Amino acid sequence: MVTAINNVSVKGKQVNIVIEDGRIRSIGKATRTGKGVTVIDGTGLTALPGFIDMHVHLREPGFEYKEDIESGCAAAVRGGFTAVACMPNTKPVTDSPYLVKYILMRAAQADKCRVYPVAAITQGEKGEQLSEMKKLKDAGAVAFSDDGVPVSDSRMMKNALLYAATFGLTLIEHCEDKSLAEGGVVNEGENANLLGLPGISNAAEDAEIARNIVLSEVYDAPLHLAHVSTRGGMQLIREAKARGVKVTCETCPHYIALTDAEIAGYNTAAKVNPPLRTEKDRLAVIAAIKDGTADCIVTDHAPHSKEDKDGGMYDAPNGISGLETSYAVCYTTLVESGTITQERLSELMTYNPAAILGVECGRLEKGGLADITLVDNGAEWTVDPQKFASKGKNTPFAGKTYKGRVEYTLVGGKVVYARREEI
Ligand SMILES: [Zn+2]
Repeated sequence: MVTAINNVSVKGKQVNIVIEDGRIRSIGKATRTGKGVTVIDGTGLTALPGFIDMHVHLREPGFEYKEDIESGCAAAVRGGFTAVACMPNTKPVTDSPYLVKYILMRAAQADKCRVYPVAAITQGEKGEQLSEMKKLKDAGAVAFSDDGVPVSDSRMMKNALLYAATFGLTLIEHCEDKSLAEGGVVNEGENANLLGLPGISNAAEDAEIARNIVLSEVYDAPLHLAHVSTRGGMQLIREAKARGVKVTCETCPHYIALTDAEIAGYNTAAKVNPPLRTEKDRLAVIAAIKDGTADCIVTDHAPHSKEDKDGGMYDAPNGISGLETSYAVCYTTLVESGTITQERLSELMTYNPAAILGVECGRLEKGGLADITLVDNGAEWTVDPQKFASKGKNTPFAGKTYKGRVEYTLVGGKVVYARREEI
């Protein structure tokens, strides 16, 4: 199989890319034509290494009415993602080798992007007994997390860290002190008060981040902290990294671009955990992206049905359907604004997540894996969730306009998404 992408921009240079058998054969003047060659006109487009989202919820098995692996993968490639790592808070929880293999089988059937299962740290995500991490890894799990809930018991977390470190496994921790967060539905502060809603303080996140840093530092074990949203959390991580603690972290497009002002009118589309915070926190998250404190941008893609999200601020589940807006939001907020370079965005959306998960990613060089996303950075578009491939239409970005549109997604050199086929 040969694919030729002609006249495309790579790091500011106009080139042709020839792909053969899933890898880049050449980048430069040479191109290919003829029978059996897929030719893409890259005029006006920029080629980027395919995005890797190391934090998504594909909902299968158990919640297929919210999303399934097929619709989730379709959403991923529509958003320019060539690989996603899916969280284990399914039903049943992904805590057995059988379920890890089931997810891989369903992903192979969907045949869109690469899917890397994340398995549970504790059995049933109950926080009582460690899962059989080694067996889960052998079945294909790339990392471990009880995401959705934290491992609240510090002794359990310590054991998980020591166990994982022995086998070189990656742990991802959802940082939330449940006793501090209890009862809250949105960020604590002025906007919550205006609506008369109980708030979740930054302390709930910061306290748990601090505990996790202490454990990682004392036991010298690597740990990845999920969806960091607070200024205090980012400062703790910045200081820990400076001391040489083996912590890494991620944040999400919604913490970069939005604040808790979005909850006005009891907007359940803006209900997410951790909650959208204040402008001060948003700016601190951007500063952390700029100075290297934040390693990755993930979507925390959390699709829900309309019925679920119509349940009111107290009952509506947390989460944003994020795969199909991530690139545009990040490009507009971070790159177009001049805050970071396009190359730094590739670190956050491709290279760093790949390194943390220990998987190969696309690279725009001879011999590189041909997981490639072609974007039109000049194109402006307005978010219309009804056009999402995801079953989850829940997004606070609806109706907002951004620059940067995904035009093609290639996985192993094969076109798995082409926007022109939608028009
Ligand atoms: Zn989480």
